[in-house]
Amino acid sequence: MSQLEKLSDWEETARVQERINWLSRQIEHHRFRYYILSQPEITDEEFDRLFRELEDLEGRYPRLRNPDSPTQKVGVPPSTEFGQVRHRVPLLSLANAMSLEELDKWEERLVRALKNQDMEVGPLNYVCELKIDGLSIALTYRNGLFEQGATRGNGEVGEDVTLNLKTVVNLPYRLNPPGPAEKPLPEMLEVRGEIYMPKASFEALNKALIAEDEPPFANPRNAASGALRQKDPRQTAKRNLAFFAYGLYVTDKTIKEPLSHFESLNFLKKFGFPVEVHGRFAKNMQEVKDYCSEWEQKRHELPYQTDGVVIKADNRLLWQALGATAHSPRWAVAFKYPPEEAETLIEDVRFEVGRTGAVTPIAWLKPVKLAGTTVKRASLHNADQIKRLDVRIGDAVVVRKAGEIIPEVVSVNLKRRPAQSEVLHYPTKCPVCGAHLERSGNEVAFRCPNTAACPSQVRRRIEHWVSRSAMDVDGVGESLIEQLINAGLIKNASDLYRLTKEQLLTLERMGEKSAENVLAALHASKKRPLANLFFALGIRHVGQGVAELLAGRFDSIASLAKASKEEIASVEGVGPTIAQAVAEYFAEAPNQSLIKELEALGVTGEGGEEGVQPVSQELAGKTFVLSGTLNTMDRTSAEKAIKRRGGRATSSVTKKTNYLVVGDNPGSKLAKAQELGITVIDESGFRSMLGIAD
Ligand SMILES: [Zn+2]
Repeated sequence: MSQLEKLSDWEETARVQERINWLSRQIEHHRFRYYILSQPEITDEEFDRLFRELEDLEGRYPRLRNPDSPTQKVGVPPSTEFGQVRHRVPLLSLANAMSLEELDKWEERLVRALKNQDMEVGPLNYVCELKIDGLSIALTYRNGLFEQGATRGNGEVGEDVTLNLKTVVNLPYRLNPPGPAEKPLPEMLEVRGEIYMPKASFEALNKALIAEDEPPFANPRNAASGALRQKDPRQTAKRNLAFFAYGLYVTDKTIKEPLSHFESLNFLKKFGFPVEVHGRFAKNMQEVKDYCSEWEQKRHELPYQTDGVVIKADNRLLWQALGATAHSPRWAVAFKYPPEEAETLIEDVRFEVGRTGAVTPIAWLKPVKLAGTTVKRASLHNADQIKRLDVRIGDAVVVRKAGEIIPEVVSVNLKRRPAQSEVLHYPTKCPVCGAHLERSGNEVAFRCPNTAACPSQVRRRIEHWVSRSAMDVDGVGESLIEQLINAGLIKNASDLYRLTKEQLLTLERMGEKSAENVLAALHASKKRPLANLFFALGIRHVGQGVAELLAGRFDSIASLAKASKEEIASVEGVGPTIAQAVAEYFAEAPNQSLIKELEALGVTGEGGEEGVQPVSQELAGKTFVLSGTLNTMDRTSAEKAIKRRGGRATSSVTKKTNYLVVGDNPGSKLAKAQELGITVIDESGFRSMLGIAD
């Protein structure tokens, strides 16, 4: 080999190694986004492309493969938030077949592998099961009772999500004996299956997220994964997850497992497990292909999301013989349906201004059938996307349902572009109020900065305020809000509470009785739980869940407004991003005056003065006076804390006072208390009386 050849060889190696390292990092990153955060940044197809390129390079240059290459692992390391469970049998993911031809190749590999082992290869039978868009779990049953459930994790070690799984309604807690009733249930049984979110629950969840100005989940699988990995099982319970069993994996000697996988599915049903009913036995590969074709369209009618077909060799003896690669078992493959796409025309593009001022471009389409539904609108996401696609009104475009639920425009068919089409310019001014749009450093969205007066923002904010999960004001809906804004009667939420019957009666179609009902509903909303009030303010990133967390720590708007970023961020489950958004919200003058007005109008939530109800009687019969400044809580919070525990808080020291709580610079009350022989406690003594740890 010449010097020159060696050099180019060396260069080639370095280039390939660099590519392998880059691909490995990308794959690890996207796995983390996908499995841990449930927020993928790329589509499954893009991920598969990266993964296949890495596999291909490693195949051609085996010496360049890193020992910790992502191709040698499944998933990601389990999060430390849950206990760890080591799988008895690795819970691997499946290799994909992206076309019917790839199914033939898979069968060829099976036959070759069996021949290599000198096994007699008769006709191969298969089982086809619809591939549910959820996440795999392994369940252990001991003596017929559900004992433990774990996520896939890295395939070897998963996360213990037993408590959360107990909230899944159709996951059996106690098993039926599969045979004659007197036969004991197996001491140990491991079953695998899929946890998924039904379409209806998924759509409801995304609707709620969009109402909160939070990003929706891209597909039911991400939503299910997020729901299953909640720290609080009550949160999981709210998400309506469901379960399908697809495999019997480990058993003890008390039961005789069927050798046919198809039979073992029936076996699972006898135990009481829900099994997806459309699974089918296939005598040969042609029947497998027929099944895949048959379900390509029909699957959209099911109440759960499916993205392919899982094909397994039916004979379980072959499973053992064939074994698995580091990544996936050889005896099964996942046939993936191509993403659902359709071509249609863009009739209009409208720029909608949301509650927080974000401007979202929406394409209005000539209605088109896609994945079982009619699509009329599609998101164009943001200015960058419009520029990248060079999308124009009148264009023929390809729309796709990402995760087959939220349609988006993926490409423009330039061949069909009308001759006089014009470049679509993203507005520089708010389409509603005309203010110059702004874009902050790391954000993709342009925002209308006219927070206080932009009619669209005002309307959306008030709609949010009265919504069910916020202040729940019955009888005040979108059309009434529009009437009130047009009549100049309201421009923010506090104006609602100043409305009079006379004003309401000036509106069209508003009768005496309805006006009274509206006023009564508004009055009733003043004392909604504090969490609802925090949520109703519409602070960015503060959804219902975060609002509940904040209400657990801060017991009035005032104390939340006064809290430092650090204090807010220290609330369990609330991070620095949220703390920053909360601090920014309260720093703005219009918000400060809104809060003052709300307080003056008595819109204080149940945490408000007269609304405090004792939740215990630890301090019953005890009267407290506070003096000076406390470091860890403000005066209002301290007084409420006393009231909640059944005590009384008064403002002046008398003989009836039991305790004087002194903070910094206590003033004359301290001398008075000493004179009367009243017990004086400092802040830490007070906190321990309240049962708050230091
Ligand atoms: Zn505007």
